This record gives sequence, C-alpha cells and structure tokens, in this order.
Amino acid sequence: MDMVTMTINRKKVQVEKGATILDAAKKININIPTLCHLDLHDIKFVNKSASCRVCVVQVKGRKNLAPACSTPVAEGMVVTTNSIRAIKARRTVVELLLSNHPKDCLVCVKNQDCDLQSLAAELNVRQVKYEGVMSKHRKDTSSYSIVRDPDKCILCRRCETMCNEVQTVNVLSGIGRGFDTTVGPAYSLPMHETTCTFCGQCVAVCPVGALAEVSNVQKVWNAIGNRKKTVIVQTAPAVRVALGEEFGMEPGTQVTGKMATALREIGFDKVFDTDFAADLTIIEEASEFVHRLQHGGKLPILTSCCPGWVKFFEHQFSDMLDIPSTCKSPHEMFGAISKTYLADKMGINPDDMVVVSVMPCLAKKYEAARPELGNEGHKDVDYVITTRELAHMIKEATLDFENLPDSDFDNPLGESTGAAVIFGATGGVIEAALRTAYEWLTKETLESVDFKDLRGLQGIKEATVKINDLDVKIAVASGLGNARKLLEEIRAGRADYHAIEIMACPGGCINGGGQPFHHGDLEIIQKRMSGLYKEDAEKVLRKSHDNPYIKKLYDEFLGEPYGEKAHELLHTHYVKRDMI
Ligand code: SF4
Ligand code: SF4
Ligand code: SF4
Repeated sequence: MDMVTMTINRKKVQVEKGATILDAAKKININIPTLCHLDLHDIKFVNKSASCRVCVVQVKGRKNLAPACSTPVAEGMVVTTNSIRAIKARRTVVELLLSNHPKDCLVCVKNQDCDLQSLAAELNVRQVKYEGVMSKHRKDTSSYSIVRDPDKCILCRRCETMCNEVQTVNVLSGIGRGFDTTVGPAYSLPMHETTCTFCGQCVAVCPVGALAEVSNVQKVWNAIGNRKKTVIVQTAPAVRVALGEEFGMEPGTQVTGKMATALREIGFDKVFDTDFAADLTIIEEASEFVHRLQHGGKLPILTSCCPGWVKFFEHQFSDMLDIPSTCKSPHEMFGAISKTYLADKMGINPDDMVVVSVMPCLAKKYEAARPELGNEGHKDVDYVITTRELAHMIKEATLDFENLPDSDFDNPLGESTGAAVIFGATGGVIEAALRTAYEWLTKETLESVDFKDLRGLQGIKEATVKINDLDVKIAVASGLGNARKLLEEIRAGRADYHAIEIMACPGGCINGGGQPFHHGDLEIIQKRMSGLYKEDAEKVLRKSHDNPYIKKLYDEFLGEPYGEKAHELLHTHYVKRDMI
C-alpha cells in the first residue's frame, strides 16, 4: 500500500495515497467542520459533492483555500486547519447559506436537530450579514410520507447520493438553473407521482429541514381527545431500542416498559405490541414457504413486510409480482385483527376504533393509505407516527420519560417471542421464519435458534440451512441497491435461492427514515441492532409458533394458518406501477 507523510497543524501523519485531507485529519483526531460531506462507510454511502466549502483549509504553497473533503493528500503537504483565514471563510460560507435560508428555526421540524443550525452555533455566527433575494419554491406535500420544502435546501446533494447510488431509485437530482437550482424529482413532479419508495433514507441524511416526514401527531391527539373513539396503539420492534435516544439515553437501550407507560399516560386506551403481529406474520409466511416447497410453488419466496421494498418491486420488477409472499406487513395484520377479533372481544364497533402504529418508518404512512389494505370499509391502520413523532408527543405531554416506571403491554395482542423482536434488524425476519419452518418441516426441536450468518450490517448476506435432505439457500439484502442486485440475478435465472429477505433501509428498520437522526454515526445503528438481539436472547419464548396467544387466535378465530380467513384478513396483492 502506497503511503504519504504530511503535516496537519504541526502534527505528522501517514496516510494512504488517494486519501483526502479530511481523512488524514480524522486519523489524528483533528476536527474539520463539514456540512455537505457525509461518509457512511458501512452502507457504502459517501457524499462527495464538495458543494458547501465549509471544510476549507490552508495548504502551504497554495494561493486558494482547499476543501478538505475533496483534496487528495500529497507527500510533504503542510496543512493548517484553524488559520484565521480558514475560520473566516467558513463563517462566510455559513452566512451566505443563511442569507438564502428561511429563518424559521424556532418552528422548523429540524429545530435542535439541524446540522446547519449546529454549525452556525459552532462557528459563532451571530448575525446574517447578507440580505438579498430569497428563492421561492412550491412546498411538496403531495405524498403521505414526505414533505419537500425546497426553500430550505442547501444543495448539499446528500439525498441525491442516497437515492441514486445507495437505493438506485433515481428520484432526486438537481433541477433548475443558477439561483433557481434545487434538488428534487425530474420536471418538479410531486413526490406522490414518482417512483419514490418513501423509504425515507433521503430524510435520514438531509442536514436541514428540506426533507421531513408528514406529521400525523395532531390527528392522533384529535383521535385521543374524541370520547366516542377507542384508540389503540401498537409499537414496532425497532422503536424500543431507539426512542430513548430522544431523551438522552444510550442508543440500543430497551425502553419497552417506559414506552408502554408513556403511551398510557398520553391517553391511548390500549397499548399493544406489533411484535405479536410479527409472530403472526411468521406463521403465515412460514406456512406459505412450506406450501410452496411442498407443492412446487414459485421460489424463491421474497419477504413482503417492508412497504418501501414492496413499492420498489411494483415499479421496477413488475414482471416478478408472483414471487413475493402475499403476507401483509405485521402492523397491517395487527390492524386487521384489531378491527375484527379484538373489536368483537371488546364489544365495540370497528367504526369506533382507531388504530395507531408507531413505526421507525416513513413508507408505512404511505402503506396505511393503500386502498386494498382494509376490510369491509375499514382501513387496517388509521394513522402511522414515527419514533420521532412519538418522542414529540411524549415531550408535549411533559412526561419525564427517563424516570417513568415500566409497564407491560395489554393482552391478548401484546405477547410476543424473541423471533418477533428481531424483525427490526436486517436478517431478522428470515431468521424468525427459519426457526418456525425448520421445526414444521423436520418435526424436530431446533436447539440452536441463532442463525448468526444472517446477522450484521452487510448489504447482502447468504446462508445455507440443511432442512431434512434439502439445502435451503437463503439470502438477505438491505438497501434497495442491494435488493436490485439480487432481483436482477433472479430475473436472469442465475440465482437458486429458496427464500430472500429484503428491507429497503440499509441495516433494516433500526435505520428507518423515522428513527432519531444518526447524524452520520452508524455505531448508533449497531447499538440498536445489539439491543434487539439482546432482547431476543432474554425472551423465554423465541419461536413464533410457541406464542400461546397466536395459537389462541387461530383456535378462536382464524382457523388454519394460511387458510381462508387468514387469506381474507392477512394477505394482500401487488400491482404493476408506472415507471415515471
Ligand atoms: S424516500 Fe427513498 S426512494 Fe424516495 S426519494 Fe427518498 S431516498 Fe429516494
Ligand atoms: S434536500 Fe436536503 S439533502 Fe437534499 S440537497 Fe437539499 S439540503 Fe441536501
Ligand atoms: S426497512 Fe423498515 S423502516 Fe425501512 S422502509 Fe422498510 S419497513 Fe420501513
């Protein structure tokens, strides 16, 4: 490996040839401020646009300041990162950005979570010196998931890199010219009319409030305040290991008990766990898999619990709509069971029941509005709020979250197994399905339930599991670019997998677009993942088919797994969508 030796702030450093000044500075713990630059190495995301120039440094012998994020190191190079000239230039860059930025920080959705705001404070910018014309664009509120406010866009291009290079959806790019340039869908189409999957990964990396979730908080408060309605809430697995971050707790901390208490304090009538429905999903999905294996059905089976992924294949692989499982996602299954079985048990009219899902996800907002996801005129799920939105509600209700006592979920839809918990991490759904399918097919007890080859943040993982005489080939992809690679292999007839799990967000739901912002620190995602596997390991029951409430649900209401009633309530279909 070719190395170069250089000096930064009088410290010698050796780095690989081809590295940037920013890479070299990081190696010796010298902080150079950045804004557009973002390197999420583990998910192969690097935004190299070098558009903001916040990271300028002084290089000996050069007339102009150099952007540290895009200037390669050279042998003998001497760099000063904190010269008066560099500091002043950075401040000017931020002042110019602010001159064309709405000054509504106090009411902005990113207030106190905004990289531009933090940088302005860090650089001691105390006034906006430059007054001038402000760009004026239409706000896009067309979708159920994402609001685009181009007036707040600082043209960093992080969203474009995420959408085009990691997710390969290609919805976002530079549009307009000169002062009117912004980043958005081609021809300024509303998001709702594009191939956007609503994965929300662009929102997760946007440094400012130009991309944000559609908030359903007020609608949920209104439902809670309506005495005629019974408002029930369910929470997805990935939420419990991230919500604490909004209250200063360590990422990965399990706050399940405090969350249940907070939801009751907020005013929900019943507090349930989507994990119950994740167990139900496994029963249906494993049944479908076993059915396809035993009856010569189409393989590989693809998981279908991620609505971002579902919309992606409806647009991009509509010639293969017969291979994904027909199972609804867990929160939709939960809604369908709530408005039938539970409403009946509670003696209430489903018209008077409101189902709220707390999800790590923006795509689930869109999913809840899909017309086919309902029964007898009722939507399965009425409102979806994200982990961040729940945190806002807890703060609005002035709850001292960290010191809340723990409480349990309500039953009968609150009990779950370890298999359901790991749905929140990439590989978790297929691992959970294997625990059940293995026992059903072999009629033997699976002693070691941990399929470790299927765990971790790698974009594509593979494993082979011997079930009876068959070597069952499994693949897992997270991130839509990785999903595309697998789907293209299948389309070309080059893949011989039996089952594939796909999640739209790199790392799975723990890194969903509705989770607390990671600000570029992917260790946070690792810690959330560890939190889920810890909870799984601590559970007494770790296989979905061992959940006694699931057995009761089939005995009392659904009948056979994968049977007629289950099909009516728990399965769905897909449609070919246009490529715009
Ligand atoms: S939500 Fe996902 S698919 Fe849609 S624009 Fe953002 S990154 Fe692209
Ligand atoms: S929308 Fe956000 S991420 Fe995209 S270019 Fe604008 S500021 Fe950057
Ligand atoms: S991976 Fe999870 S959070 Fe991301 S789009 Fe899919 S379901 Fe939503």
